[in-house]
Amino acid sequence: MAVEPASPITTRTIGPGAFSGTALRGDFPVFDAPTRQGKRLVYLDAAASSPKPRAVIEALADAYAHHYANVHRGIYELSEDATARFEGARRRVAGFIGAPSEREIVFVRNATEAINLVAYSWGRTNLSPGDRLLTTQLEHHANIVPWQQLTAEVGATLEYVAITDDGRLDMDDLAAKLANGPKLLALAQVSNALGTINPVAEITEMAHRAGALVLVDAAQSAPHMPIDVRQIGCDFLALSGHKMLGPSGIGILWGRRELLDAMPPFMTGGSMIIRVTLEGAEFNEVPYRFEAGTPAIAEAIGLGAAIDYLDALGMDNVREHERLLFERAWAALGEIPGVRRLGPDDPDTHAGVISFVLDGIHPHDVATVFDHEGVAVRAGHHCAMPVMTRYDLPATTRASFYLYNDTDDVDALTDAVRATQQVFGG
Ligand code: PMP
Repeated sequence: MAVEPASPITTRTIGPGAFSGTALRGDFPVFDAPTRQGKRLVYLDAAASSPKPRAVIEALADAYAHHYANVHRGIYELSEDATARFEGARRRVAGFIGAPSEREIVFVRNATEAINLVAYSWGRTNLSPGDRLLTTQLEHHANIVPWQQLTAEVGATLEYVAITDDGRLDMDDLAAKLANGPKLLALAQVSNALGTINPVAEITEMAHRAGALVLVDAAQSAPHMPIDVRQIGCDFLALSGHKMLGPSGIGILWGRRELLDAMPPFMTGGSMIIRVTLEGAEFNEVPYRFEAGTPAIAEAIGLGAAIDYLDALGMDNVREHERLLFERAWAALGEIPGVRRLGPDDPDTHAGVISFVLDGIHPHDVATVFDHEGVAVRAGHHCAMPVMTRYDLPATTRASFYLYNDTDDVDALTDAVRATQQVFGG
């Protein structure tokens, strides 16, 4: 169903879905200029970070220009104004992810910090020697290394759910490892390396039955599909603003209130206290207890503007748009000899991220030729080295779609693949 978004979003039903990616490009200044080679910029690297629409850039500039002062401190108008806008952004985030209360929304720098916060604060309080934690082989390093550090420090054991040949979590292995009684399962809703969409609601139910808490890394899902923490049923959720049209330097940890209430601070200092004496300190309530020091004020307000933009489009429509682009690109790449696509075949379990390799051509060389063609993709291990190991690959090339992409970008992708094969004599 097409939506009628508020200005300044441009929608038209000429693209493959409810809105036109081509038309939306007009909202993103980065697409105004051609590339160095004089080509149209075809940006297929949203999974690394997304471009910003004018509405977000203007909200950020406006916050700094007219509404900026430190928050939660001043008894003067400007500070009250900044605080109201900052807290308004917190409310928008709560609404966006279906959080029962904005008090459960902790502003952090990014998904990495959100996961580290849980590993330090929850982990170091609740894990004992001999305990188990569970994550998966499909994770970004941000959802592996904090748990490795934690378990090594505490003397606990870290296990990994295996992945299938087509890049899904092995549900039998998951069930077997949950039966070992881990205290927490940390997993991504969408894999940044393969695009796999994990059935996190079903998995959370399995984990809860086995007595484990669940942390969902939503860095690659929150920007691209509707998210509802109540529907998922998870206990913690992490996301990064910069991947969902927002500024860098702002991210979110959501946690169930009773869990956050029971967790000690991660970092200490100003803002997170009620009272300090020379003998000790009394900590503030959540979420402020976890927000030591001056936060990223304008960036939080910018994230609020990004959410407004996404809400106006409708996250169901964003997901549907990317699903159609995925289907088209997956099929088109499948028709080119010498292209190996990774991840699930099924568009229901594959987000708008396609990892692929070209026979005999290193992914870095692929990305270099692509760049020449104006097509920006990521080549490398995608901060998911265990995934590369699983498929015995040093790296892949990754094309990731977002709302400003359209069928012309899919064509540009397949043209770039053919151009690369020609350059390398494929
Ligand atoms: N998890 C996943 C699945 C990711 O894709 C990323 C970013 N590539 C992260 C976590 C970490 O995000 P950030 O670098 O913004 O902290």
